[in-house]
Amino acid sequence: MKPFNSLREAAEYAVTLSDGWHFANTSETYEKESLLPLAQTSDEEDPIDEDNFYLVSSGGSIGLCEDAEDIDWLFIANAEKDTVLPDVYSASTDNCFCSQCGHRLAPGANFCDECGAKLN
Ligand SMILES: [Zn+2]
Repeated sequence: MKPFNSLREAAEYAVTLSDGWHFANTSETYEKESLLPLAQTSDEEDPIDEDNFYLVSSGGSIGLCEDAEDIDWLFIANAEKDTVLPDVYSASTDNCFCSQCGHRLAPGANFCDECGAKLN
Protein backbone atom coordinates (compact mmCIF):
# COMPACT_ATOMS: atom_id res chain seq x y z
CA MET A 1 0.00 0.00 0.00
CA LYS A 2 1.18 3.46 -0.85
CA PRO A 3 0.61 6.49 1.38
CA PHE A 4 -0.52 9.84 -0.07
CA ASN A 5 -0.91 13.24 1.52
CA SER A 6 -3.98 14.21 -0.45
CA LEU A 7 -7.01 12.41 -1.79
CA ARG A 8 -6.31 13.82 -5.24
CA GLU A 9 -2.87 12.14 -5.33
CA ALA A 10 -4.35 8.91 -4.01
CA ALA A 11 -7.12 9.03 -6.60
CA GLU A 12 -4.68 9.70 -9.42
CA TYR A 13 -2.79 6.58 -8.45
CA ALA A 14 -5.95 4.55 -7.87
CA VAL A 15 -7.27 5.26 -11.38
CA THR A 16 -4.21 3.46 -12.76
CA LEU A 17 -5.30 0.34 -10.85
CA SER A 18 -9.07 0.30 -11.13
CA ASP A 19 -11.78 1.87 -13.24
CA GLY A 20 -14.64 1.73 -10.78
CA TRP A 21 -15.29 2.10 -7.04
CA HIS A 22 -18.10 2.11 -4.59
CA PHE A 23 -18.15 4.29 -1.54
CA ALA A 24 -17.67 2.40 1.75
CA ASN A 25 -20.84 0.50 2.60
CA THR A 26 -23.17 2.39 0.33
CA SER A 27 -24.32 1.64 -3.19
CA GLU A 28 -22.85 4.91 -4.44
CA THR A 29 -20.48 4.20 -7.31
CA TYR A 30 -17.69 6.20 -8.89
CA GLU A 31 -15.75 6.07 -12.10
CA LYS A 32 -12.50 7.75 -13.06
CA GLU A 33 -14.41 10.77 -14.32
CA SER A 34 -16.26 11.28 -11.05
CA LEU A 35 -13.57 10.17 -8.61
CA LEU A 36 -10.92 12.73 -9.53
CA PRO A 37 -13.08 15.88 -9.23
CA LEU A 38 -14.55 14.54 -6.01
CA ALA A 39 -11.05 14.00 -4.61
CA GLN A 40 -10.05 17.52 -5.62
CA THR A 41 -13.09 19.02 -3.90
CA SER A 42 -12.47 16.94 -0.80
CA ASP A 43 -8.87 18.18 -0.55
CA GLU A 44 -9.96 21.79 -0.94
CA GLU A 45 -12.88 21.70 1.43
CA ASP A 46 -11.75 19.11 3.93
CA PRO A 47 -7.97 18.61 3.93
CA ILE A 48 -6.67 15.91 6.26
CA ASP A 49 -4.52 16.48 9.32
CA GLU A 50 -0.76 16.15 9.11
CA ASP A 51 -0.85 12.91 11.09
CA ASN A 52 -3.24 11.30 8.63
CA PHE A 53 -2.72 10.07 5.10
CA TYR A 54 -4.51 8.24 2.37
CA LEU A 55 -3.62 4.73 1.29
CA VAL A 56 -4.15 2.97 -2.00
CA SER A 57 -4.29 -0.81 -1.98
CA SER A 58 -2.76 -2.97 -4.68
CA GLY A 59 -6.18 -3.25 -6.32
CA GLY A 60 -6.91 0.49 -6.24
CA SER A 61 -9.09 0.88 -3.14
CA ILE A 62 -8.59 4.15 -1.27
CA GLY A 63 -8.49 4.36 2.51
CA LEU A 64 -7.83 7.07 5.07
CA CYS A 65 -5.25 6.16 7.67
CA GLU A 66 -5.41 8.04 10.96
CA ASP A 67 -2.31 8.47 13.10
CA ALA A 68 -0.56 5.88 10.89
CA GLU A 69 -2.73 3.22 12.45
CA ASP A 70 -6.43 2.64 11.81
CA ILE A 71 -7.53 2.49 8.20
CA ASP A 72 -10.95 3.67 7.15
CA TRP A 73 -11.57 2.37 3.62
CA LEU A 74 -13.50 5.01 1.70
CA PHE A 75 -13.53 3.92 -1.91
CA ILE A 76 -13.52 0.20 -2.59
CA ALA A 77 -12.26 -0.85 -6.00
CA ASN A 78 -14.70 -3.07 -7.89
CA ALA A 79 -12.13 -5.85 -8.03
CA GLU A 80 -11.78 -5.74 -4.23
CA LYS A 81 -15.48 -5.73 -3.46
CA ASP A 82 -15.21 -9.06 -1.68
CA THR A 83 -11.66 -8.63 -0.45
CA VAL A 84 -11.05 -8.16 3.24
CA LEU A 85 -8.86 -5.08 3.38
CA PRO A 86 -6.63 -4.57 6.42
CA ASP A 87 -8.08 -2.25 9.06
CA VAL A 88 -4.72 -1.42 10.58
CA TYR A 89 -1.76 0.00 8.73
CA SER A 90 1.42 -2.00 9.18
CA ALA A 91 4.48 0.14 8.68
CA SER A 92 6.86 -2.82 8.77
CA THR A 93 5.42 -4.56 5.72
CA ASP A 94 5.46 -1.39 3.67
CA ASN A 95 8.61 0.11 5.06
CA CYS A 96 7.14 3.60 4.79
CA PHE A 97 7.97 4.54 8.34
CA CYS A 98 11.22 4.11 10.22
CA SER A 99 10.98 1.16 12.58
CA GLN A 100 13.33 2.94 14.99
CA CYS A 101 11.81 6.39 15.28
CA GLY A 102 8.60 6.25 13.26
CA HIS A 103 9.68 8.97 10.85
CA ARG A 104 7.91 8.96 7.49
CA LEU A 105 10.30 7.67 4.83
CA ALA A 106 10.79 8.63 1.23
CA PRO A 107 9.96 5.80 -1.19
CA GLY A 108 13.00 3.63 -1.79
CA ALA A 109 15.01 5.19 1.02
CA ASN A 110 17.85 3.09 2.39
CA PHE A 111 18.40 5.11 5.53
CA CYS A 112 16.06 7.05 7.77
CA ASP A 113 16.82 10.74 7.25
CA GLU A 114 15.65 11.48 10.77
CA CYS A 115 17.63 9.04 12.93
CA GLY A 116 19.96 7.40 10.39
CA ALA A 117 18.72 3.86 10.96
CA LYS A 118 19.46 1.45 8.14
CA LEU A 119 16.29 0.23 6.47
CA ASN A 120 15.58 -3.10 4.87
ZN1 LIG B 1 14.36 6.82 12.06
